[in-house]
Amino acid sequence: MHYLDNAATTRVLPEAAQAALTVMTEGFGNPSSQHRLGIQAGKLLKQSREAIAAALGVQAGEITFTSGGTEAINTAIFGAAYKNRHIGRHIIITAIEHAAVRNAAARLQAEGFTVTALQPDANGQISVDTFADALRNDTVLASIMLVNNEVGTILPVEEMGRLLHSRCPKALFHIDAVQGLFRVPLTPQKWNCQLMSVSGHKIGAPKGIGALYMQKGTNLRPYIVGGGQENGMRSGTEPLPGIAAFAKACRIRSNAMHADNQHIAALHQYLQQQITAELPWAEWNSAEGVPHIANLSFPGCKSEVMLRVLEGDEVYVSAGSACSRGKESPVLKAIGLGKERIDSALRISFAPWNTKEDIDALIAGLKKGAAMLRR
Ligand code: PLP
Repeated sequence: MHYLDNAATTRVLPEAAQAALTVMTEGFGNPSSQHRLGIQAGKLLKQSREAIAAALGVQAGEITFTSGGTEAINTAIFGAAYKNRHIGRHIIITAIEHAAVRNAAARLQAEGFTVTALQPDANGQISVDTFADALRNDTVLASIMLVNNEVGTILPVEEMGRLLHSRCPKALFHIDAVQGLFRVPLTPQKWNCQLMSVSGHKIGAPKGIGALYMQKGTNLRPYIVGGGQENGMRSGTEPLPGIAAFAKACRIRSNAMHADNQHIAALHQYLQQQITAELPWAEWNSAEGVPHIANLSFPGCKSEVMLRVLEGDEVYVSAGSACSRGKESPVLKAIGLGKERIDSALRISFAPWNTKEDIDALIAGLKKGAAMLRR
């Protein structure tokens, strides 16, 4: 199998799966229980939180576990908007955000907030000037992604955070770092960011676990209420199997981050060479950005059909983001691509365990598909 859809989700690292299994079958106590098994679970919860906080460059007390990136994002956006509504009702996002951000903002707009969605340039980049122009006296929240999930651009969050902090000091800054974790060093303090979302299943942990960083002193209205776990921010018995697996994956990926990114950059370069040599008519939709995401159009070859051809040879890629299945990619549309180019776009995304053989299989599959589909 040649799995090249790692921006959608990754295989779970065996060590992370083992960590989850051990919790499920042996250390399965409830961290709130007073007996030995509960105390052990509480200890593991604490250690896991510390490992994840270290990977995010923050304090353990600033981490709230969630069910994934989407819940972290919803908690941050609704929490920040409702908390600050007395200050103002203007929110800034970008037109290339993940649906979790776009739809949370759309709901707030329906409730009376004003949303400015910043438009990208032809490379999928959002300029600092565009951000500066959008700031208003009543801006209460900016939610900006660190790395775009379809074209891989790294957004200038540091400059944006600085501007927001100086021009709208009461506004909160949320960063969707789901595609940035272990691809770009996370430095939320340097970015003047009070809220940051990450997700386990993009880095080798299972689905169903994520985290929200909330800078010390940032109090949000909780999204889920109940028994008061997670400092009252996210009630419900902590999902310790996922948390332990997330911590394990963070430790492994943190230690290997530099070498992994060099390996992935080499894979990206090899992909570029092979495309130039074998499929020179392909059009690149991703320009500069993280090397783990490449996005290309193969005019004349509809993505859905090409996906099936590739799947026949056990090569898995994506036709845009997994969440926009069947719908025209709003990201590619926002960067100004025409219909034919959008309809023939494929996203290829790497994990550290991919190899050149995976790329060779992809190229062979693409050539086969092109021979069948292009007139
Ligand atoms: N944000 C970005 C940039 C993503 O790529 C994704 C997942 O595709 C999410 C948020 C949502 O994360 P999750 O699938 O953990 O809910």
